[in-house]
Amino acid sequence: MTVELICVGTELLLGNIVNTNAAYLAEKCAGLGLSCYYQTVVGDNAQRLAETLQAAVKRSDIVILSGGLGPTEDDLTKEVAAKVMDRELVEDAVSRAYIENYFASRNTEPTENNWKQAMMPQGGIILPNPNGTAPGVIIADDTAHVVLLPGPPHELKPMFENYVIPYINKLEPGVISSQTVKVCGIGESRVETLLQDLIDGQENPTLATYAKPGEVHIRVTAKAEGEKEARKLIKPLVKEIKSRMGNHVYTTDEEVTLEKAVVDLLVANELTVTCAESCTGGLLSGRLINVSGVSQVYKSGYVTYSNKAKRKLLGVKKSTLEKHGAVSRQTAEEMARGLAAVAKSDVAVAVTGVAGPDGGTEEKPVGLVYIACSVKGEVTVQEYHFSGNRQIIREATVSAALVLMRSCILEYFSEITFGKKK
Ligand code: ATP
Repeated sequence: MTVELICVGTELLLGNIVNTNAAYLAEKCAGLGLSCYYQTVVGDNAQRLAETLQAAVKRSDIVILSGGLGPTEDDLTKEVAAKVMDRELVEDAVSRAYIENYFASRNTEPTENNWKQAMMPQGGIILPNPNGTAPGVIIADDTAHVVLLPGPPHELKPMFENYVIPYINKLEPGVISSQTVKVCGIGESRVETLLQDLIDGQENPTLATYAKPGEVHIRVTAKAEGEKEARKLIKPLVKEIKSRMGNHVYTTDEEVTLEKAVVDLLVANELTVTCAESCTGGLLSGRLINVSGVSQVYKSGYVTYSNKAKRKLLGVKKSTLEKHGAVSRQTAEEMARGLAAVAKSDVAVAVTGVAGPDGGTEEKPVGLVYIACSVKGEVTVQEYHFSGNRQIIREATVSAALVLMRSCILEYFSEITFGKKK
């Protein structure tokens, strides 16, 4: 089956917000085995939206719209969709009661235009919205299934997962199931080279790679009569990929992020951790602290941006800074050693680099970063050359630091296991 996405909102056209709903929906639909040939962004304009939707229902089996379900005058997705699908808008008692309760539980009064959200296309399947006031709706006829979802991602995502996926699964007999092998510390082209024969020979299951900062996701998708049969097809391929990727695999669990894998590793090995950040200014600590349960291992973090802070807080020598500069292998190493001592932490990670756009020189260009990781006093320093704007460089640095932490911890314990160290 084919699916088509229409994201509604003038603020999307103006670039005021990034169209993350399109990325989310496209990825989910691909995972469901749907082919997506068209995505459109259209402003809050009834005529242009109607034209877009008319074209979409003619050429696609499923059309998913996001946005424009709110109470205001310029929210017109439902009205336009009802017209295109030749439906009347009628008041839905359940939606009306929900809106009443929603406002009563917040001790506020709905405004007159909130009742507009209880008006639904006749015969539509209403999708509850526990995170907002705009319910979603599916309108289906012989030509297409039109799915209307609210714009805010925290409303759209649970609605898609709880109601739309089961609906789509029922349209096509069979089940599409997938599993992702997440690897880090290896580039996408190397991954593809190592898996080339599997990629060339793919049929069912299929295999696709997705590059992310510092990591690559390898998704294996199978279609079968039932979930159990699909899992049976997926299992041997995942096993083969894992054996080829070796230590680079950090999880096959959809929910586990790179930072969660690092925190789990620290917890499992009872290692405390601390960070000293120059160019990332707290982003690394922020990503680690995003993981619930990190309090068992995270001790403290330092933003040591100036040379003075590097000296005063971490004990970096003045002579090192003068001779090699703040962005250098030597400074990174002294930062990590000083940090481990000051914070009395098992793992100490230090970051220093040129995030740009200013401050680069021929010798030390924008994007040059050093990351040092100390595990129980054993320090590894890596040099990196990132490209992109300031934000991209800082985010790439954080991902690289997580990858380095993971590999240094694994290395430390493998040396113990293989008797190189007590
Ligand atoms: P509401 O009931 O909040 O008015 P709505 O369905 O009318 O929801 P919009 O008014 O179109 O949705 O958008 C509300 C907000 O949702 C936007 O300001 C934006 O923050 C977010 N949003 C809308 N569309 C997208 C999108 N395609 N990608 C990411 N965020 C989006």
